[in-house]
Amino acid sequence: MKQYAMVVEADRCIGCKGGCQVACKTENEVALGRSRSTLYHMGPTGVYPDLQMYFLPVMCQQCEDPSCVDVCPTGACYKDEDDGVIYIDQDLCIGCQSCKKACPFHANNFNKELRVMDKCTGCVQLRDEGKEPACVRNCAGRALHFGDINDPESEVSKLLAANEGHVYTLKDDNGNHPSGRFILKNQKWIDMLPFEFEEALHNGMYEEPESELAHRIFEDHLKKANVVRTEMNKEKEAEVE
Ligand code: SF4
Ligand code: SF4
Ligand code: SF4
Repeated sequence: MKQYAMVVEADRCIGCKGGCQVACKTENEVALGRSRSTLYHMGPTGVYPDLQMYFLPVMCQQCEDPSCVDVCPTGACYKDEDDGVIYIDQDLCIGCQSCKKACPFHANNFNKELRVMDKCTGCVQLRDEGKEPACVRNCAGRALHFGDINDPESEVSKLLAANEGHVYTLKDDNGNHPSGRFILKNQKWIDMLPFEFEEALHNGMYEEPESELAHRIFEDHLKKANVVRTEMNKEKEAEVE
């Protein structure tokens, strides 16, 4: 079965929101103040000078086992067998928002004016014309890719294969099996749901894994000790001369 999904090169994302939010909203006429994707700030974390931060654009993860589909009482929310994408039949949607509550990744977007659910379809209307999704086409960092992750010959599969060992999915405690993939090579992946991480960081509740923090502090002290030792040696050499 085909499984179309978003592959995000997080190292390339510059946090501009130009493609994943502005272009998406324009293309899909998303309601004012709403968005089909969210940009998370993963950091800063660490101890100076070893700080890190990356951006994470998150839209629907086109789950293999989508909890949004499971809970929809009318069948409006369904997984398409042709491309594996999750769609909302707005004629069947009664606006109960069960799918929104059931999504562990906060990926659904309720249209308050129309009282129906709205979500990322990978811009199906553009793909039907052989075009790329609006976010992919307009991403300033060229960080976004959309394609069939089950086809080994697809561009996204080749990209994932080329980055083996640096590919992640969102933390999946519910067994949704998200299809979205994130490539992060230059920094350390934070294995928390991004909104939980942002909240913890904002409230001062995020703690780096202890061993890593201790290691960084130790390294920092070691660097300083080496600088002092070098200076002392230079002074001694100067005295001898
Ligand atoms: S448009 Fe691209 S570079 Fe800009 S925030 Fe979105 S994913 Fe990142
Ligand atoms: S990310 Fe959320 S809205 Fe998208 S398929 Fe998975 S459960 Fe459904
Ligand atoms: S694929 Fe289309 S609907 Fe989905 S986030 Fe990108 S622009 Fe928006």
